[in-house]
Amino acid sequence: MPLIPMRVMLDHAAENGYGVGAFNVNNMEQIQAIMMAATETNSPVIVQASRGARSYSQDNYLRHLMLAAAELNPQIPIAMHQDHGNSPETCFSAIDQGFTSVMMDGSLEADGKTPATYEYNVDVTKQVVNKAHGLGVTVEAEIGCLGGIEDGHGAGLSGEEAQEHLTDPEEAERFVKDTGCDALAVAIGTSHGAYKFTKKPTGDVLKMDLIADIHRRLPDTHLVMHGSSSVPRELVEIINEFGGGLKESYGVPVEAIQEGIKHGVRKINVDTDNRLAITGAIRKLLAEKPEKFDPRDYMKPAREAMAEVVKARMIAFGQAGWAEKVPVVSLEAMAKRY
Ligand SMILES: [Zn+2]
Repeated sequence: MPLIPMRVMLDHAAENGYGVGAFNVNNMEQIQAIMMAATETNSPVIVQASRGARSYSQDNYLRHLMLAAAELNPQIPIAMHQDHGNSPETCFSAIDQGFTSVMMDGSLEADGKTPATYEYNVDVTKQVVNKAHGLGVTVEAEIGCLGGIEDGHGAGLSGEEAQEHLTDPEEAERFVKDTGCDALAVAIGTSHGAYKFTKKPTGDVLKMDLIADIHRRLPDTHLVMHGSSSVPRELVEIINEFGGGLKESYGVPVEAIQEGIKHGVRKINVDTDNRLAITGAIRKLLAEKPEKFDPRDYMKPAREAMAEVVKARMIAFGQAGWAEKVPVVSLEAMAKRY
């Protein structure tokens, strides 16, 4: 199956009331882990790469790895998404590389750090929408700012500061009318990275009611939750048991995400949990078998550990079982629909 536009997948998810995990990749094993989980659970897949991932893996390697994933798994619909494009140029270069979806994050200026004005955000997002839709490519945008930094991208807001940059539902409504984006990342109190909350989040720090309000105003826009790793205790414990030094932290509970899915959340970004799984598996193997030095000896359990996490999320988000039902629409056909 060729790579399909993300919009097609999210439309199908909306019609059937499920969410789709978007998992970040930097290398072959991560892509393989996602595809292992997808084939086992029969799930449609969003694979995403940040700017940092694109420069780490190099675009050509990444493109061919994605094409291999599509070739080897013809029954699985795959969308390939640029995570946090910092400028129209980044999004355009992703489209040139065959990405079927891009995020123009104009909530921050092109430096990926400074919170931008509403006007700036509308301007850069519209530029991307105009070009991307002409080619059938999906556009995700962001309004409001998340906490933390991921891959060098983020305003570095603390949890408390992030509370001052939450998405304003009225502004979100205006923004979608002004830009025509397909999907909208909302800031509801989450942060990127492993340190999101200092205790199990309650409604006053994780504002799930905002999602319901935004969804009421924008029933046809697919909402996206960023920074939505759950930071499972057992994964942190494996790392620390075998020589790691992670501080105590709380992520977004899977039940909160499931609540979001009931209110229009269709794409859920998960990266940290997979990183934790990989690192824990590698630390454990090397600690228990110090004589090992073939990278396959630790990359194989690492890949399996990540696949387990992805599988659990696919089941929890409700995307499991839907792979063959997602309509296959080409970029050309999608371009005509816009
Ligand atoms: Zn993000």
